[in-house]
Amino acid sequence: MIEAITHLPFCGHGPWAANYGRGMARALVLNATYEPLSVVSQRRAAVLVLCDRADSIHGSGEMLRSASIEVELPSVVRLRYYVKAPARRASAVTRRGVFARDRFQCQYCGARAENIDHVRPRSRGGNHIWENVVAACRRCNSHKRDRLLSEIHMRPARVPRAPGRFAWVRQAVPTMPECWRAYLPGDSAPV
Ligand SMILES: [Zn+2]
Repeated sequence: MIEAITHLPFCGHGPWAANYGRGMARALVLNATYEPLSVVSQRRAAVLVLCDRADSIHGSGEMLRSASIEVELPSVVRLRYYVKAPARRASAVTRRGVFARDRFQCQYCGARAENIDHVRPRSRGGNHIWENVVAACRRCNSHKRDRLLSEIHMRPARVPRAPGRFAWVRQAVPTMPECWRAYLPGDSAPV
């Protein structure tokens, strides 16, 4: 399971942690079926490859060096065996999730978003659901107040929708590497 992947042994290839300065760089782990399974540190992904549990599909361009080994840190790896992935439930509406979906852009003017706006205001019967929330800048949010879009001629840049099946991948990293996109079927959000 996922736990098994994230707690794999180090196979005696270390120590290299001292040579690895960018602890935040992440790698996408694909199941044997190429379905996204997990996002782990690139170092962890390199261990999966060194232990013959996965193959590196895309390198990150960064090297991992220790006294006895030198390998390119992977950006995407594919497991050599199939892991039964737990079903992920539809994600709840969260501030972080809305910002991630809308790329931190105000859906009314394109400025950097700071607020969550209910397209149909809650005071007018709007629900707190993915389809009724958008990221908005403070200015647009306060300008709109509790009015309907039709009353003030505002319109979000994109119709708000619930995040896709693999939105958790996008949310796991500040900026998603371009090479990950090919493994996220149905993901149409801009990078
Ligand atoms: Zn705005």
